[in-house]
Amino acid sequence: MNDWTLRFEGYDAVDERRREALCTVGNGLFATRGAWPGSRADDVHYPGTYLAGCYNRLSDDIAGRRVENESLVNVPDWLPLSFAIEDGDWLTPDTAKVLQYDVELDLRRGVLTRRFRLADEQGRTISGVERRFVSMADPHFAGQALTLTAENWFGRLVVRAGVDGAVRNQGVERYRALSGQHLSGVERLTRDDGTAMIAARTSQSEVRLAVASRTVVADDEHACWTPVGGGLDALRQVTLTVAAGRPVTLRKVAAVYGSRDPAVSEPGLAALSAVTDGLGFDALLERHVLAWSHLWKRFAVDLNGSGDGTLHAARLNVFHLLQSVSPHSADVDAGVPARGLHGEAYRGHVFWDELFVFPVLTLRMPALTRALLLYRYQRLPAARRAAREAGLPGAMYPWQSGSDGREESQLFHLNPMSGRWTADVTYRQRHVGLAVAYTMWQYVEATGDTAFLMDHGAEVIVEVARFFAGLASYDASRDRFVIRGVVGPDEFHTGYPGSEPAGIDNNAYTNVMTVWLLRRAAEVLARLPAWRRTELTESIGLRPEELNHWDELCRRMYVPFHDDGVISQFEGYGELAELDWDVYRRIYGDIRRLDRILEAEGRSVNDYQVSKQADVLMLLYLLSPGELCDLMERLGYPVTTAVLRKTVEYYLERTSHGSTLSALVHAWGLASVEPDRTLEFLAQTLQSDIGDQSRGTTSEGIHLAAMAGSIDLLQRRFTGLALEADALRFAPSWPRALGTLRMTMLYREQRLEVRISADQVRVSAEAGTAAPIEVCCHGQTRELRAGAWVVFRTPGQRIPTG
Ligand code: BGC
Repeated sequence: MNDWTLRFEGYDAVDERRREALCTVGNGLFATRGAWPGSRADDVHYPGTYLAGCYNRLSDDIAGRRVENESLVNVPDWLPLSFAIEDGDWLTPDTAKVLQYDVELDLRRGVLTRRFRLADEQGRTISGVERRFVSMADPHFAGQALTLTAENWFGRLVVRAGVDGAVRNQGVERYRALSGQHLSGVERLTRDDGTAMIAARTSQSEVRLAVASRTVVADDEHACWTPVGGGLDALRQVTLTVAAGRPVTLRKVAAVYGSRDPAVSEPGLAALSAVTDGLGFDALLERHVLAWSHLWKRFAVDLNGSGDGTLHAARLNVFHLLQSVSPHSADVDAGVPARGLHGEAYRGHVFWDELFVFPVLTLRMPALTRALLLYRYQRLPAARRAAREAGLPGAMYPWQSGSDGREESQLFHLNPMSGRWTADVTYRQRHVGLAVAYTMWQYVEATGDTAFLMDHGAEVIVEVARFFAGLASYDASRDRFVIRGVVGPDEFHTGYPGSEPAGIDNNAYTNVMTVWLLRRAAEVLARLPAWRRTELTESIGLRPEELNHWDELCRRMYVPFHDDGVISQFEGYGELAELDWDVYRRIYGDIRRLDRILEAEGRSVNDYQVSKQADVLMLLYLLSPGELCDLMERLGYPVTTAVLRKTVEYYLERTSHGSTLSALVHAWGLASVEPDRTLEFLAQTLQSDIGDQSRGTTSEGIHLAAMAGSIDLLQRRFTGLALEADALRFAPSWPRALGTLRMTMLYREQRLEVRISADQVRVSAEAGTAAPIEVCCHGQTRELRAGAWVVFRTPGQRIPTG
């Protein structure tokens, strides 16, 4: 394993699904799991291909109620490429004797290579190399090449290739009792030139899809492929005569189109002409590798001297981030899928995870963040409708979002430990709207894109602010405003002991961020030119009294505290029972999902002071300690850094880290409190998927926010980099153990290279015509011109610029 390669040696059926997820190849428009070519969904394999934003809805009866679920659709599989010796069985690592097997994902070039040697029952050995990619240059295309060598025999080699339309969504065990057949009207086409196509429609959303492929024998482009199979396959086969030691190569080009794609009227025609008249495997591969090299220039991360696989994990995380959202995402109406395009966990829904993803994108490809923010803007009408239906003003964004912006959260949750379906009210995570508004503000701050603010951002920010102002009600007994019946980022607490789950009151994170938002919304309005402010306020009917009310809320919002001054996660949290963590650790070992453990024991997690993930600590993730203290001061709650430290420690002891986001947020919050522990949480965040930190769930999809967040920890937390419009500001506390970081970023049209170590910060700008920018560090501000560099020594000693 080098820093650019993910490598698995040997065949391990038990680990295969996790490897498939980690070996996914994709381009932001679609992605395909790294399954053995031609394998079908079974206990070992799960080939899956997902198109960004392609959802379909199915309904079922559970626990006596009709429920509807919208899922990212598993589309026809373009991977089938199987081989058999003479009339024998198809050879696979499951059916044959495995003499050698390894899989290697080249992160630099985006190519997955599988090398194997298999022997049949008669001892006939065949060695093979399969390479595949999903094109980062030509977004509808994928390529696959298979070279086979008969080692100790000669005769007939049968190869079967094409597209498999018999796919369903069945990748997540706990959803399997529910319907998964999303494709209907499946049509197949095959031709003797090796072309195959499956065209189908999603049953409810009526997206028309087509997946086509054409496979050619390298030395015999005119080989005749004969029809085989039937049903929902589009397969053909060819019989080749092979000699021992003489390799044969097959090359397959696949194309995936859907009726949601721009400039496509008939996906079937588009896919067919792509594979018959389009570029061949080699040309596609060359363009794909070039596109990745361009992406890596923008997203370069280098860590010199960090050891322990840190750089490798960082590169893997950037790689999967860019396979999930890429420049091609701009052409699709899709959000940031929490589990990438790598599996079916959470049904491909969009949560608040973009909050952790955008900082990495914005500093390198701001247009991509902008495009992804438009996913939210397009769903503003749906959010307004949801607020109206809840009897509230403004816009209420859904906790889980899919195709059209309605709430997609499930209402029942299956606890795999007890086999029971229980009510799920985590949709009460209203804080998602705060994240939507925060990301819009942050994008504008980082880029200075005032056009975005005027045309889209301001409206969303103000409408979300109105919603939260409406959600807050006046509590005369306290003479303060309160927010009741929500669920905080820690999803464990959905209600109070002994009552039906109906949310909790005064989640500190929600209340404080509401105050943050109301202040920002007022600022946004003030920033708009007068004509636009008038247009906006008139069109949404915003009244001056509302702004006065926001101001009052910013002074009178209630925030709960424990007696010793610790910020309470929510009102009443401090009175809940303490859990005997040691006992639970001893009994269960892995206690991340204490909610499931306690439910299976007939108890409720609502009764205990246990958190799934960082909640109060999220405040320190989004706000600087100074900003937080200032907000609290205005509320009449003076908070010192000592209180913040105590608060961090309090929750650290009571958090099970049941979400990969938790380690990320802890690493962030602890950096100023317990720097040593930060590195431990950084390592966990970096390793979220490659180290399968959440035991088994990577096989159902990567954890995109943790992957991106691990890069953000490096780029912002330890460098103190602030995303602000006027200057690039650093306040480094770079751990010596991490060596030297080198990364590229784009700031105000300047392509920059930043090098940071414990001793210095060096920023250089590529030559060009971009205007100079200001760089600040340790209280010094320097102008940086294109083609020049600045260096700041730690602590604070400046040396000359170039
Ligand atoms: C976490 C959420 C997150 C979601 C999707 C859940 O386990 O609790 O905060 O948004 O996963 O990643």
